[in-house]
Amino acid sequence: MCVQHQLQLLLFLAGLSLTKSYSVVVIGGGWAGYSASSTLASSSGADVEVTVLEASPRNSGGGLAGGWRTASGRPVEAGIHGFWREYQNTFRVMRDEIGLDLDDVLSDFTPSVLFSKNGRVATAPVLATSARKGSKSSKSSNPILSSISGSLPPPLDTALLADFDEKRLNLQDRISAVGLLSGWADFGQEDPDSWDRYDKISAEEFFLDYGGVTPNLYAELVSPMLHVLPMGPGSDISAAAALSCFHVFALQTRGAFDVRWAKGSLSDLIFDPWRVKLEEKGVRVEGGKRVNGIERAEDGDGMVVTAEDGSEYTADAVILAVGGTSAAKLKEGSKALKEAEGAKRVEDLRGVTCVATRIWLEPAPSPTTGLGGGAYSSTTLPKAVARAMGESPIAVVGAGVLLPELEETGFCIYDLQRMHAEQHMAEDTACLEVDMYRADGIADMSDDEIVELALRAVSSALKIDPLQVKVVDKAIVRARNAVSHFNIGSAAASPGIKWGRNVYACGDYIDRQGHASWSTEKAVVTGKQAAERVAKDLGLKGVKARVIPAAPDTPQLSNLRRLAKSIRRVSGAQRLPVPVPWTIGKWIGKGARP
Ligand SMILES: Cc1cc2nc3c(=O)[nH]c(=O)nc-3n(C[C@H](O)[C@H](O)[C@H](O)COP(=O)(O)OP(=O)(O)OC[C@H]3O[C@@H](n4cnc5c(N)ncnc54)[C@H](O)[C@@H]3O)c2cc1C
Repeated sequence: MCVQHQLQLLLFLAGLSLTKSYSVVVIGGGWAGYSASSTLASSSGADVEVTVLEASPRNSGGGLAGGWRTASGRPVEAGIHGFWREYQNTFRVMRDEIGLDLDDVLSDFTPSVLFSKNGRVATAPVLATSARKGSKSSKSSNPILSSISGSLPPPLDTALLADFDEKRLNLQDRISAVGLLSGWADFGQEDPDSWDRYDKISAEEFFLDYGGVTPNLYAELVSPMLHVLPMGPGSDISAAAALSCFHVFALQTRGAFDVRWAKGSLSDLIFDPWRVKLEEKGVRVEGGKRVNGIERAEDGDGMVVTAEDGSEYTADAVILAVGGTSAAKLKEGSKALKEAEGAKRVEDLRGVTCVATRIWLEPAPSPTTGLGGGAYSSTTLPKAVARAMGESPIAVVGAGVLLPELEETGFCIYDLQRMHAEQHMAEDTACLEVDMYRADGIADMSDDEIVELALRAVSSALKIDPLQVKVVDKAIVRARNAVSHFNIGSAAASPGIKWGRNVYACGDYIDRQGHASWSTEKAVVTGKQAAERVAKDLGLKGVKARVIPAAPDTPQLSNLRRLAKSIRRVSGAQRLPVPVPWTIGKWIGKGARP
């Protein structure tokens, strides 16, 4: 027992108590780390000291979602971040813990346009007219769509009301999507057996061989979505991740696909005020502290955390909120982590490299006005770009647009002048953001080469002439292996929240079977859950995660799930998904049986 605990016991026996008697070190200052800290700091007994150690010297909060300013004062971020309608816990953090008015910091729900390498495929409209309790309601800009969507169950509202380009997807392609209902119903979001079953095959195999979608639907719709949501090609994303991702981001409730975007940089709008709130609650937030050592204290009763600059912190518990690949790196040099039973497969986690390119351009001589979908309706981007993105300031583009550079790279194009207040006010520049996912080769290029490639990618995706523009400023962020990669087998390698005595973790790669959520929402949820677990183990009072559960199944999905269970029982298929009937020929051809 350490001296502090002995003292505490003596004082307890004497009827006295020590305040701030426990210390928790949270490593990583992104959504997960800040959520964990904020939850712990709500301890009613004020008996915990929380310290956040963040590697980045530039900004000590925000993680992958944070940002900074260039030498010329322009805001930069590692990509643009959207907030889907079902990010209930994230919205609650913004409102209740940071004290923000969501309408001040986020746009209204915004449509986006999907492109494959062949051109525009569909526009996903804003569907929901009313959402679950607590979320903001939104109307489609089209009143007919609004009224029709109200009478359709999800996912039919998204599937039927999205404006598909008939040249890209014919009726047969669209009808073939019905086959996906069986996998969607069979896959239980919070069921370990389902994750186990679908984690073993690729998304591509599932969609084509089990789900029976046409190759064209796969190429034009499914594959581009996989390239920008779980950020990889279907051959390198697990079927479990794809089903979970599509369920969470698109299918679970009416309007689940609707997204709100920040009106500026997340650092300015969210993380700076959040940090102030944390510090008011007594949390110490230290930037420029890259942790390189996590070991047990010599008396074995706590942890010692060391940073690269030599500073040392003792703690009763450590929460790793650093992302999967960074956690694996920390494990390499840590006996304590190597011994932690819960972290035994962390080194198998992989990361996706993203390159976020922000380009400020000389403005067009006159603005293009009357544009749809964004917070602002005009832009001074080149007319051809403005017109091609007339429906929305967000273009989502699948891979293969510019072979060979982008063969496996999906990307999003954002007209920031129509999204961010600061860019909208800037009269001397137009601003384009191109975020590329699975961009390992691109990350090795020079800044100028990346800007040139990004501009070529924009004109190629939007099917417009090559852009003749004057670049005024640029900022490139290379996030190498930084985003969780949900490859085949990744769910089996994903750890839970408690790794061992005194060691906990949170982030978007944690506990895939738990709360059905992704990305920011998953980081927030697991941050809260990790804090609650620490509090329980240390006996801290009043720490409650109060996680809002994921949306319950709709009645239609519940019925489908019952049917899927019966089919699984009758067919005797145990290990693999049950294929839809029209793929049976394929299975006979392969001589295989699922
Ligand atoms: C280009 C791009 C676009 C995205 N778009 C979206 C989106 O639209 N919507 C969405 O919900 N999500 C999006 N995401 C994903 C989202 O950013 C992540 O899910 C989220 O940031 C995860 O939060 P986190 O706190 O778990 O990890 P991170 O944000 O990765 O934070 C981890 C922190 O730990 C720090 N750290 C790492 N190692 C150490 C160490 N040894 N010592 C100290 N500190 C360390 C890092 O510096 C970092 O600040 C996007 C990601 C990218 C890259």
